[in-house]
Amino acid sequence: MTSDTDWIAVYRPELPPAEAIAAYLRRCDAARFYSNRGPLVRELEARLAAAFGQPAEALRSAASGTAAIEAAILAHAGPATPERPLALVPGYTFAATALAAERCGYRVAFLDVDPDSWCLTPAAVAADPRLGDAGLVLPVAAYGRMPDIAGFAALQAETGVKVVVDAAAATEALMDTPGHVTAALPLALSFHATKTFSTGEGGAVVWADPEGQARVEQVSNFGFRLSRECKVAGLNAKMSEYHAAVGLAMLDGFALRRRAYAAVTTAWQAAATGLTGRLHLPPDLASIYVLWEAPSAAAMIRAEATLTEAGIETRRWYEAGLQAQPHFARETQPPLPVTADLGARLLGLPMSHDLPRRAIGRIAVALAAASPSGPPQAAVQT
Ligand SMILES: *Cc1c(COP(=O)(O)O)cnc(C)c1O
Repeated sequence: MTSDTDWIAVYRPELPPAEAIAAYLRRCDAARFYSNRGPLVRELEARLAAAFGQPAEALRSAASGTAAIEAAILAHAGPATPERPLALVPGYTFAATALAAERCGYRVAFLDVDPDSWCLTPAAVAADPRLGDAGLVLPVAAYGRMPDIAGFAALQAETGVKVVVDAAAATEALMDTPGHVTAALPLALSFHATKTFSTGEGGAVVWADPEGQARVEQVSNFGFRLSRECKVAGLNAKMSEYHAAVGLAMLDGFALRRRAYAAVTTAWQAAATGLTGRLHLPPDLASIYVLWEAPSAAAMIRAEATLTEAGIETRRWYEAGLQAQPHFARETQPPLPVTADLGARLLGLPMSHDLPRRAIGRIAVALAAASPSGPPQAAVQT
């Protein structure tokens, strides 16, 4: 039971218990196979691909979401070249997006996002004067919302500049809309513990291009292909059999897990009535996110203070945008007003598959107390 003074965490992961993983681990013991695309990794790849309506060839696992982005970049765009040194990246994202591009030799150029979708748009990229110097475009599925895949595929076909999608939080979106998976654009997923589907640490490249996926395999394994000779730029991006064991156990219980999230989402919907500002909920977002859109930056600061005081953890998941973070602010970037505004007004509220109804009630009361003068409205976005 939670009491009214218990700390409420912004997210509380729960991965399969040891007993559920043990049956799979015994298969590692028996096979004496621990990494390098062993039987458990292959089974996880096939089952996940099937969940996206794809053959097993369309999915290659990775050691992390960041490793999946790097492998997808190297396999699709290759490392940066002197002629095209830039990667075009949205400012409103998690640090891993831009770090992955840097690890592949690119200098990151930040673009602003669309105020409604919170994603980079093909039109913004097409209009950007830096496109001629870019060897990579890296749109992000913000909070699991897919960017305009068809539009980016058309942009890639027209300009020849390769597009890789950081779809880290979009595993559910791919399950619900398998049409996002194409032969044109590789999508990188994260299976980190704070994502809806998790292997602890892990990720995958989803791409319906068998030749492309053969390159993903190659760059993920030191650039080796059919020999132990390093033939292209690569890294060690391989998922271990142990992480695949966690993933297989997670998949076994995933339908149940999604129903649990749906029930908590329904409770959140009920609590949204009467709140100032706007609540963004799954399935519009990945199930791990509930975001409160504050009417102003000042209102968000007030809400953060009030919620912290009440023992409720909140998070600015993408901070103020990457362009504002010390490592990336070394280079002068154009102003990104939408990214800055979203960073100042989108607040991550607690969400978990087993978040109790009374915890949600406490959060709603604290939010209402933080905005006493605001007009009540029931603007639930689902
Ligand atoms: C989680 C996340 C990542 C990083 O994934 P890891 O598995 O932690 O490496 C990258 N980009 C976005 C948008 C994410 O949400």
